[in-house]
Amino acid sequence: MKRIVILGAGESGAGAAVLAKKEGFDVFVSDMSSIKDKYKDMLNSHGIEWEEGHHTEELILNADEIIKSPGIPSDAPMIKKCVAKGIHLISEIEFAGRYTDSKMICITGSNGKTTTTSLIYHIFKSAGYDVGLAGNIGNSLALQVAETPHDYYVIELSSFQLDNMYDFRANIAILLNITPDHLDRYDNCMQNYVDAKMRILQNQTDEDSFIYWNDDPIVSRELEKYDIKAIRYPFSELKEKGSIGYIEEGMYKIEKPTPFNMEQEALSLTGKHNIYNSLAAGIASNVAGIKKEFIRKSLSDFPGVEHRLEKVTTVAGVLYVNDSKATNVDACWYALESMKTPVILILGGKDKGNDYNAIKDLVKEKCAGLVYLGADNTKLHNFFDGMGIPVRDTHSMRDCVNACYEMAKPGQTVLLSPCCASFDLFKNMEDRGEQFKTLVRAL
Ligand code: ADP
Repeated sequence: MKRIVILGAGESGAGAAVLAKKEGFDVFVSDMSSIKDKYKDMLNSHGIEWEEGHHTEELILNADEIIKSPGIPSDAPMIKKCVAKGIHLISEIEFAGRYTDSKMICITGSNGKTTTTSLIYHIFKSAGYDVGLAGNIGNSLALQVAETPHDYYVIELSSFQLDNMYDFRANIAILLNITPDHLDRYDNCMQNYVDAKMRILQNQTDEDSFIYWNDDPIVSRELEKYDIKAIRYPFSELKEKGSIGYIEEGMYKIEKPTPFNMEQEALSLTGKHNIYNSLAAGIASNVAGIKKEFIRKSLSDFPGVEHRLEKVTTVAGVLYVNDSKATNVDACWYALESMKTPVILILGGKDKGNDYNAIKDLVKEKCAGLVYLGADNTKLHNFFDGMGIPVRDTHSMRDCVNACYEMAKPGQTVLLSPCCASFDLFKNMEDRGEQFKTLVRAL
């Protein structure tokens, strides 16, 4: 009997273990940290052996193959030992792909993955398709393949999952954009990160589809290096040579495979970045043969994803928007760009070496007030205070929301799009967004 060892027992690892057991492998799960009760119960109920808090080498290095969770870096000591012993390392998605013939719709990119994946899932679900949500969101693909199989899977793929994928084939691949990210895990080499993203194309045949943003300079450069067999569906903000999806005179248009159009105004997601995400999702659904009326309806009634330009409520004529997921300057740029009223912008948190010059002009143009929210706001004071915009200094969400309430005038928007990670004052970006919403609703 072949032995499969799974390193990391989160959603992907525990799911992979269940599928491996079902397929008759000798399975062992090892996690350096503690395993959540829900996953322990899952492993126990399937009679799968596991350990937590350490790795026992003798029980790992005798594996025929190892499934590595995406959170474990490739330079972790145990991974290095596995590689030195010549053990094949794969991701949970690669493993699951071996045991299903379902259609795979895979989404990658540096920004916009969760939004686009969720939107495609919403369209498929609303059209009555039998579809599962997997990858970085939803449930483990392997677990679904083992226990609740679907005809289609919509899968959000990070570069870390793509790193350990070899034979997996995406029937519909979407590449949204490539900008520098996670370079600490790619030896600070941008090309290594780019190569990981491009793996989404590997194994595609002429029966498959490849949807991508036509104006991304890195993607364009890279595509010249590959012999792409899949049918290409490039999209862009405006009509241009080569694009088959775009906005033209207020209309959202897709040329092929089935010509489709609708009013741009009717799209539920706003902002330039969401034009890209809505085009990618519309093209994928069109390629899958979903009827126009379902695509049109779902693109206009999609409620959006929590913590991404999420409208919270209106208080005293002021709209409050939660974009807590904007943990870098680029994301805040897109948020500000989409604002149609004067903005009170909440900025601050754990700064990852931000250069605020990228949003300086937009802040001048759109902001009626700035509220700093961080353990240490010195850098924000130094950069923004001299711009002639009223500022307030706060160190808790309660003070921050009160300051916004005092500053904002009817017709304005309070936007939490902080450019920074949240760890200085909050557990994570979700906690920051939740606290914001709770306090705003209590105003
Ligand atoms: P990911 O899952 O790739 O992190 P999300 O859909 O969660 O992406 O969006 C994260 C942030 O990135 C959003 O708050 C938004 O400001 C920005 N963003 C979303 N889509 C795009 C896009 N297509 N291009 C550039 N930025 C985007």
